[in-house]
Amino acid sequence: MLWMPLAQLRRKIISSGGFVNAHAHFDRAYSVTPEDLPENNSGTATVERALREKWQLVDAWKKNSGEDDYFSHITSALRAQHEFGVRVALSFIDCDPVAGTRALSAAVKAKKYASEQLQMKFVIACQTLKGVLNPEARQYFETALPLVDIIGGLPGADRGREEEHLDVLLSAAKSTGKRVHVHVDQNNDPNERETEQLARAVIRHGLEGQVTAVHGISIGCQPKSYRQELYKLCRDAGLSFVACPGAWLDARRNEVLTPTHNAVTPVDEMIPAGLCVALGSDNISDIYKPYADGDLMVELRMLLESTHFYDAAELIRVAVDNGRRVLGLV
Ligand SMILES: [Zn+2]
Repeated sequence: MLWMPLAQLRRKIISSGGFVNAHAHFDRAYSVTPEDLPENNSGTATVERALREKWQLVDAWKKNSGEDDYFSHITSALRAQHEFGVRVALSFIDCDPVAGTRALSAAVKAKKYASEQLQMKFVIACQTLKGVLNPEARQYFETALPLVDIIGGLPGADRGREEEHLDVLLSAAKSTGKRVHVHVDQNNDPNERETEQLARAVIRHGLEGQVTAVHGISIGCQPKSYRQELYKLCRDAGLSFVACPGAWLDARRNEVLTPTHNAVTPVDEMIPAGLCVALGSDNISDIYKPYADGDLMVELRMLLESTHFYDAAELIRVAVDNGRRVLGLV
């Protein structure tokens, strides 16, 4: 009998309770259209635009989507996730002046669907694509708070006022007792230091152990001495992480010089440094990632290959137990 490490890894994950997808955007899953792709577009195709542009470009789709559309997209993603062996999943859900509360209402219904039809646990976080400082956007954030399981944030949406964005999220965490997940350091750019900013904010607010950083890709752009100090700071803050390996492996070539690394959360350093890292799919078949299907086995494989991290016991923890921890389920 031939021994196949990848198949064995998968079997152990399934027998440990199945994958936990700790970060996704199911409300926009399968929203990419043929017109968004280069072969059907004479100008710069939507899928080729920069991340910040896409944050606005999704508005057209969001504006035209009703609660039933959102429900259909979310439940389609949940069924696909079930096929991939996922038994617990967290999705950020847009709740802002463009999506209104339609996606969130659909997600609340999908939670029941997941539990009754798929025997899956579906966990909801709010996505703050329009920030939390603009008064109208803030109102939607406040409306979402009682309906979400986890408070989601995107400091980059309040560019130049990231600190204030974090203060709003973390104050809400204190008043509601809910955990917080924040998108940080996702551009593979040495000028980003959002993980450090988040860890310091967590300590300032006394929320050690209650906050999770999603991505942390730009950490790999920093010199080793900075990285080592950052890991210590993250330990002090009890900051955990979600790695979404496929999310930025498509980072564009540029001429900025950094330590040689792959554009992925550096688990090969973080896990030995004692940090908790979970796994997420991030976007599925939308204008951000048209070809991503949300298969967490593929994501795990990308993670272990891109970081040369072969510790099977730790990889199983990344795929299962750590996901439960960052979702506050254990
Ligand atoms: Zn995300």
